[in-house]
Amino acid sequence: MRYRSTRGDLTADAPNFSDILLAGLAGDGGLYMPESWPKISAQTFREWRTLSYADLTAEVISLFSEGAIDRDTLRDMARDAYAGFDHAAVAPLCEVEQDLFSLELFHGPTLAFKDMAMQMLGRLFDHVLTQRNQKVTIVGATSGDTGSAAIEACRGRERLSVVILHPKGRTSEVQRRQMTTVPDDNILNIAVEGDFDTCQDMVKALFADTTFRDEVSLSAVNSINWARIAAQIPYYVRAALALGAPDREVSFSVPTGNFGNVLAAWAARQMGLPIRRLCIGSNRNDILTRFLIENDMSVRTVEPSLSPSMDIQVSSNFERLLFELLDRNPTRCAAIMKEFRETGRMAVPHDAWTRMKDVFDGMTLSDEQTSEAMRHFYSESLYLADPHTAIGLAVGKRFQEPGIPMVAAATAHPAKFPDAVFAATGIKAALPPHLADLFERPERYDTMSSQLAGIQDAVRTHIRRH
Ligand SMILES: *Cc1c(COP(=O)(O)O)cnc(C)c1O
Repeated sequence: MRYRSTRGDLTADAPNFSDILLAGLAGDGGLYMPESWPKISAQTFREWRTLSYADLTAEVISLFSEGAIDRDTLRDMARDAYAGFDHAAVAPLCEVEQDLFSLELFHGPTLAFKDMAMQMLGRLFDHVLTQRNQKVTIVGATSGDTGSAAIEACRGRERLSVVILHPKGRTSEVQRRQMTTVPDDNILNIAVEGDFDTCQDMVKALFADTTFRDEVSLSAVNSINWARIAAQIPYYVRAALALGAPDREVSFSVPTGNFGNVLAAWAARQMGLPIRRLCIGSNRNDILTRFLIENDMSVRTVEPSLSPSMDIQVSSNFERLLFELLDRNPTRCAAIMKEFRETGRMAVPHDAWTRMKDVFDGMTLSDEQTSEAMRHFYSESLYLADPHTAIGLAVGKRFQEPGIPMVAAATAHPAKFPDAVFAATGIKAALPPHLADLFERPERYDTMSSQLAGIQDAVRTHIRRH
């Protein structure tokens, strides 16, 4: 399998899966996409019904890593990656109301769905870097959950230095502590004065400085990394198979920020999984749902909400869908993205927008509605949902159709957002045993303004020390 950028034509030296894993972002600023979608037959889906979660992951990723990493290697990695999850099914389905399911993606080490992909990614990096005898510096921006998942997946790995930027004071305390209490010396946390988009802009600026990028061998584990999207496809496949696919349609509802998780569902659909509708849930930072409802993709300022992992205005992965909606025309895609960068407004052609609406629905929940949803699912079903999961479930319920299972992605454990959960339900969600002493562990992080030169110096000092 070869890859191409959303902003450039297929080139003769088209990179493979290992190349794009390390590169993250394409050289022209675009995002990598597989040159074509692997197709999975109904027969193959039926054969996959009996596979374990880890073995299914190996099957799915091998379709994207062909020519770079073989299936047996992937199987060993996946078995190791998911052995540390605290649920034997890895990503269990729970029926919350009739035909409304919660797909629990939070049974990994940091209690959010980011672990599902990141635990694979850490091992993929290790494998490829060992093969190539290289080291890299991973930088990432986080609104809370990516950072801790990346740190947990990369800690102690000799060939990886990790620098994570989080918006100061805008993550929950559990989220911050999961990042800042990891003692391994290959990890550096920086609290940036600004919001998540500021952090994401800093990471983009670090990559845009090609001298610096080469000097420290920069690499990314943000959801712009295609390997992460690939590692998020298996749970959609697993859930659909459990509910009767390929012989029955299933819909998904996904609480959305950077558009990575729901893009993985869309990819599964491209590959032949019978997905009927994809529903996007937003909090008040609702650029995506505004876009779906009225074709208005315009950036507003980010406002804090009860679901901080979705406090985002620039959904990076949307570019991948846009590229598809434009019939994979990189010139048009690059032009639209340039205009968006310069004006904060994206003019998507009407036919492309209509094609998106053929598959996607979207809905916004205010903080009050989110609390109400948490209360509802707790009082009706004793189901304790974190604010992100509650949005997913509420949006799923809104768009349910008779006879079609609706599966909501449960993206975080309720104990990750205990204050919001307590305020809505009166229940104190307990941290699982491996995190019980989180509030006693010493923290370590730097606070910095959003100045490129300062952050570059901090990265240099960190890799010299490690
Ligand atoms: C990251 C995250 C999201 C948003 O996922 P995207 O892939 O960015 O759309 C939703 N909920 C939680 C808990 C998250 O950590």
